Formats: sequence, structure tokens, C-alpha cells
Amino acid sequence: KIAIAGATGKLGNLVVDALLERGADAGQIIAIGRSEEKLAPLASKGVQTRVADYNAPATLVPALEDADKLLLISGSEVGQRIAQHENVINAAKSVNVSLIAYTSIANAATGGMKLAAEHVATEQALAASGVDYVLLRNGWYTENYTDQIMGYLNSGVILGAAGDGKISAAARSDFAEAAAAVLLAEEPQAGKIYELGSDKPFTLAQLAGAVSAAAGHDVSYKQMDPETLVDIYEQSGVPAVFADILVDTDVRISEGALEVNTGQLAQLIGHAPTSLGKVIKNALDQ
Ligand code: NDP
Repeated sequence: KIAIAGATGKLGNLVVDALLERGADAGQIIAIGRSEEKLAPLASKGVQTRVADYNAPATLVPALEDADKLLLISGSEVGQRIAQHENVINAAKSVNVSLIAYTSIANAATGGMKLAAEHVATEQALAASGVDYVLLRNGWYTENYTDQIMGYLNSGVILGAAGDGKISAAARSDFAEAAAAVLLAEEPQAGKIYELGSDKPFTLAQLAGAVSAAAGHDVSYKQMDPETLVDIYEQSGVPAVFADILVDTDVRISEGALEVNTGQLAQLIGHAPTSLGKVIKNALDQ
């Protein structure tokens, strides 16, 4: 059986769909989430659902019972994730899960992003656990940008501190397909590290150009100095700690932290990742 922890999230739902599309039996899938309500639509697809919280080991052990493989989707509570992920890894170990696939971040070991610190620590916890594991070092979701498309169009600008840094972003659905491919692969996956991103990286100026072309409305990229951008985010209500992380990410992008040139995403999913234009179009059509 294949367990998906974080199945109720945006990526997790897409992974369950991708597993089913790739021929997995619904009865073979265990969808784990902390909310019964959010698990209900997954249950209606025929998959098993189990409630567990990354903070509560006593809930994780029974949720992972009889799972052979586990996809650990990194949690969304920044600052708490090391202990949470360790809880999931320990629970998986205690029920003899044979393989853990973990959604890390692109260039985790070298990129130096503040946001990567919890991923690096989780990778270390996996290495220390003795359980076989495979790392899915996911690049940026293109949707991190396209979710803000109305803001870009209303203001006519994309603000950033990423300079000419190339971003090998891909659609969330592409990363979900890659996870499903790894979970269903016949070839052994233990010890593999996948650096995943699209083969067509873009700069934020190119993103602005693509948004302009798709929407027929001028949007330009405005490079900011990092301190000013932190102030702008804080003034618009972003908590200081997140404003700092967001701007740090941009600065690291300018140094290449989210550029990936491995071609492994296309190889795993068996087709070219969704184009930037298509993700933008999807956002405009919503
Ligand atoms: P979501 O926020 O949609 O999903 C996060 C999942 O983790 C949800 O299922 C959530 O449960 C679950 N979760 C969080 N905390 C706990 C907890 N304490 N116990 C049990 N489950 C928990 O994020 P996405 O699906 O979009 O992305 C998946 C992960 O990827 C994120 O959590 C984050 O770590 C990382 N990420 C990657 C980005 C990228 O560009 N590569 C960008 C942003 C995040 P619930 O549904 O109940 O909230």
C-alpha cells in the first residue's frame, strides 16, 4: 500500500489523482490528513482515508499501519516542520515502511535559502533514520506566481528582488505526477535524489512578459532592493518573519537557488512539463 501524508493539500490531491491515472488501484492508496472533512472527497474516490496530525505521534502510527511506501509531503507550518517531519519518519520506521519519498526543495543542499533549512534538516533526519528514502527536491510551483495574477494585472507590476535569476518553476500537477511516478516505479528508488524543475526556466522579467502577452495588458518587472521589499510586504500585512523569508528567497533566486537543469522532471513524467503560458492561461481562466 502507498500512504500519502498531506493528501488533503493541493499537491496531495493531485498526487492521488496521478496515482489513479497511472493505474494504481484505489484500494492500494491510503490518504492521510488531519481533517476528516478535507479527507471526504478523497474517500469518495475509493481510497482509504486516515486522520493523523504531524504533531501527534500517537495518531501517526496507526495511520501508517500496513503502508509499504510513504510519500511525506512537507507540512505547511513553517518553523514547526522539523519536529513534525521527525514524528512522521519515526512513526514510519516503527511500522516498517520500506520507502519514504519526501518532498524537499530544489538545490536543498547548496541553495542556501532560509526556506530550505527545514528541508535540509528533514533530509538529515531521513538519513539518520535508517529507513530507505528518496528525495523529490521540488522546484518552485509556477502557481506561486500565477495565484497572484490579478494583483499583477491591477498594479501593472511584478515586484521582486530576484534580478536575472532563472526560476525552473513547474506546475504543481507536474510535481505531483513525478511523485506518483516514483511511488509506482518498478526500478528501486532508495537513495535517489531527484532535482525537479521545468526545462524552460524564466526570470521575473520574462514572467512579466508572459503575463502581459497572455492578458493583453502591460505588466513589467520592477527590481527592488531587498530592504525596501521587506518593508512593502510588511506594510501590506505579511508577518515580518515571512516577509524576510520571501525576500531571502528572491535574493537566493538571483544567485541561482531555484534553477534546475537536470531534465529529471520531464524524464519522470514522460512528457514536457506544462508550459508557463499554459499555467498563466489556467490562472486567467479561473
Ligand atoms: P498545502 O498547504 O495545500 O498542503 C499542505 C498539506 O500538509 C495539507 O494536506 C496539510 O493539511 C498538511 N499538513 C500541514 N500541517 C500538518 C500537520 N500538522 N499534520 C498533518 N498534516 C499537515 O500545500 P501544497 O500542497 O501546495 O504544497 C505541499 C508542500 O510543499 C507545502 O506544505 C510546503 O511544505 C511545500 N511548498 C512548496 C512550494 C513550492 O513552490 N515548491 C511552495 C509552497 C509550499 P491541511 O489540508 O489540513 O492543511
